[in-house]
Parts: sequence; C-alpha cells; structure tokens
Amino acid sequence: MLSVPDYEFWFVTGSQHLYGEEQLKSVAKDAQDIADKLNASGKLPYKVVFKDVMTTADGITKFMKEVNYNDKVAGVITWMHTFSPAKNWIRGTELLQKPLLHLATQYLNNIPYDTIDFDYMNLNQSAHGDREYAYINARLKKNNKIVYGYWGDEDVQEQIARWEDVAVAYNESFKVKVARFGDTMRNVAVTEGDKVQAQIQMGWTVDYYGIGDLVKEINAVSDADVDKEYADLESRYEMVQGDNDAETYKHSVRVQLAQYLGIKRFLEKGGYTAFTTNFEDLYGMEQLPGLAAQLLIRDGYGFGAEGDWKTAALGRVMKIMSHNKQTAFMEDYTLDLRKGHEAILGSHMLEVDPSIASDKPRVEVHPLDIGGKADPARLVFTGSEGDAIDVTVSDFRDNFKMIGYAVDAHKPEAETPKLPVAKQLWTPKVGLKQGALAWMQAGGGHHTMLSFSLTEEQMEDFATMMNMNKAFIK
Ligand code: MN
Repeated sequence: MLSVPDYEFWFVTGSQHLYGEEQLKSVAKDAQDIADKLNASGKLPYKVVFKDVMTTADGITKFMKEVNYNDKVAGVITWMHTFSPAKNWIRGTELLQKPLLHLATQYLNNIPYDTIDFDYMNLNQSAHGDREYAYINARLKKNNKIVYGYWGDEDVQEQIARWEDVAVAYNESFKVKVARFGDTMRNVAVTEGDKVQAQIQMGWTVDYYGIGDLVKEINAVSDADVDKEYADLESRYEMVQGDNDAETYKHSVRVQLAQYLGIKRFLEKGGYTAFTTNFEDLYGMEQLPGLAAQLLIRDGYGFGAEGDWKTAALGRVMKIMSHNKQTAFMEDYTLDLRKGHEAILGSHMLEVDPSIASDKPRVEVHPLDIGGKADPARLVFTGSEGDAIDVTVSDFRDNFKMIGYAVDAHKPEAETPKLPVAKQLWTPKVGLKQGALAWMQAGGGHHTMLSFSLTEEQMEDFATMMNMNKAFIK
C-alpha cells in the first residue's frame, strides 16, 4: 500500500541581463546539461526538470507560485550560474511553500588556466553568485538545504538523491493520517503531545476511534479471506507450531489474520496510513494485535504501540523516505552493560517490522503476560548487522524535538528461548553510555524508529524542514 506519487523537482538557474543574450543562452544550455546528466546518473529517485533561467523578480515570483500549486512538484533546486542579484529572489522565495535545495556548484570542476578570460568569467560566477543567493535564503530563514560541490561527482549526486527522498517525505507528511485505536497508555508521558500542533506543523492528522468500531470490522472478515492470507503467510514465513496443538496454533494465527484484514480495511476506508494500538484497550478483541501489526508495518503503515501517535506518524514518514526499506518501529527493551558488550536490545512486545530480519521469520504462538488476552501469534526473527540510525520525537510544548543518533546494529549474542520476540541489538556510535546519557538529557523517549537505509543527515534535514528542534548526538 506504500505508493508515492511520481513527483518531480523543478530546477532553475539564476542569472541577469547584464551579460547579454548569448551568455543567457549558454546558461540555459549548461543547466539543461546538468539536469540531463543528473537524471542519466540513475542515482536520483525522482526526476529533475530544468525549467528556465531566472533573471527578474517578476519571473521568479511567478515560477514559485507555479511550484506551489502544482501537486506533481515536490520541491525546487536552484543554482546561480552567474551573479543573480538576490533582491530579485526575495518575494518568490518568501512565497515558496515547498522544500528548496540550493545546489552550489560550478559547470566546470576546474580552473581552465590556459583559456580562462573575461568571457568565461562573465558566464561562470557561481563562486560568488551562490554566496549572494545563499545570503537571502539565510536571511529569509527558508530552512533550505545547500549541497556544495561538483555536480558530476558521485557523492554530490547521492546527496541530492537523499535530499529528494526527504523532500518527498515532507510533501507526503501533510497527507499522513493516524487512526488511534484506544487512547494513550494510562499515566505514560512521553507518548503524549499536542495533536493540533502536530497537524499545523507536520501535517499529521491524528484521530481517535473507539475499539468497538474496529472490532466490528474485524468480525466481518470472512473465513475465505483469512484462508487466503494463511496461504500467503505459509509461502513467506516458517510456520512453527511449537508446544501448541495444531488446532490452537492455527486458530491463534487466524485470529491475527482477521485482525490484519480488519484493521487494513478500517484504515483504507478512512484514508489512514498509520495507526496505534493500546494493550489496555482491547475490549472485544481476542488477542493483542501482534502478527497483525507486524504485517501492516511490513506493508508500509506507520505504527505506534500504547497509543504513541507521534512514532506512528514518524514511522509512516520514514517509510516513505526509505521506500519502505529496513525501517522499523522499536523500543529500548533491555541492556547489556558489560564492558566490551555494551548494547541496547531493541524489540517490542510483539510489533517489530520483519523488513529488518536477517533470517526467515517464524510464525509462533506464545503467551504474553500482559493485557489479559489469549496467546498471540507473532513473527519471531533476528535483526540485521550494519550502520543504522535511531530517532524519536518528543513534544516539549514550545516545540517538537527530534532526537537521534547513528548506531552500529548487530545481532543478539545468543538465542532467548524464553523470550520469543523479534530482536535487534544496537550500540550508539558515540558509545552506549555517552549516547544514552545525551538521549535522556535531551528528553528522548523509549519508542524509536530504527533505519538501516536512512541517514542522520536526512532526518536532520526533515526536522529542519518541519521547524522542529533537533538533538542529534555525535
Ligand atoms: Mn512500548
């Protein structure tokens, strides 16, 4: 269900009429060449479309208005090929309501010592043109990104590519709708927050539903539909009956599949792309949604446990940004504090995304000593190794704050036969002690999003675009 529109980015280059029409033609030709080669690099997730050479305040203002109303356009990329007097950019830039990337580059990556002359200098002025332009963006507090370097370099192209994913996530963030099944877990603080402000600032619509409305939808799921899902489950995962008798096992899994389809239908009807559950509020449900939640997260829905709508919305945004690759809801679950082994074991009771599995997930049924419900089926698996990031959002009333750090992810040192849940270990790159201390001092909670495919820079860019406060621990 994670489908994102085929966005494009409009690219314009700044200049002025001081240097004559021939120079402006060269500016247009060079900018078109950069756009063509960026697209041909195969690195960009979304197409760059060169639109025009911008030389007047009226032209720039008209352009920015077109960007704003065109739903196909996710953002603007600008480059100052020559000196473009930045007062021309004030009105248009002020009106721009979409992400802005200032590509501070130069058409050639060298100084052509043998041939350089005043014609060349009239045309190639980005060294100072990009600074004139950057000043006005800084003064207007546009929260724009600046990518600096030769446009033909792979690292510059990759930086543009990663920013495109953030800019698309920004646009899509205003469509995120979270359905809360039940309220927040009683007495818990960090999962609370100002939902109206979240909608004003990040575009997240957060709606409450009584659990009875959902139960009705789950109970309406037909046996035939559950049969189909059961077959699909068998084809993807390992079915492990364990100590259960065959009938109990099958029944438990089928209850979760009915929940999966029921929740999915409920969300689809309301246009919701994220949801929360709360184990304290399951009236009329046979089990806590475990496997059901995992399958929905796998499909691209954002999820927050215990009514945590902020993590649910953040999860959805990060799934869009990562193209639903290896980006999972997590909780700091338990710790290894021994020297040389320092790590956080991340998991949740049940609801961990199988996209981070390094082995084939197993469908198992075990008791869950919380919530007072029947034994829930869940996917059990081992997480992955590699570089990852871990982030969360807290609400401090004056503003939201994104807290995050880069982590080394690893697998558990041993099996946990008596704790049958999905498991992922990680250690903050700054060290467990320093990382965890800074996290807590910044007021970051225990529910997080762990991603192997996104970077700290991307999350910082997103927080900047959203005017959130930031605490990235380095
Ligand atoms: Mn939790």
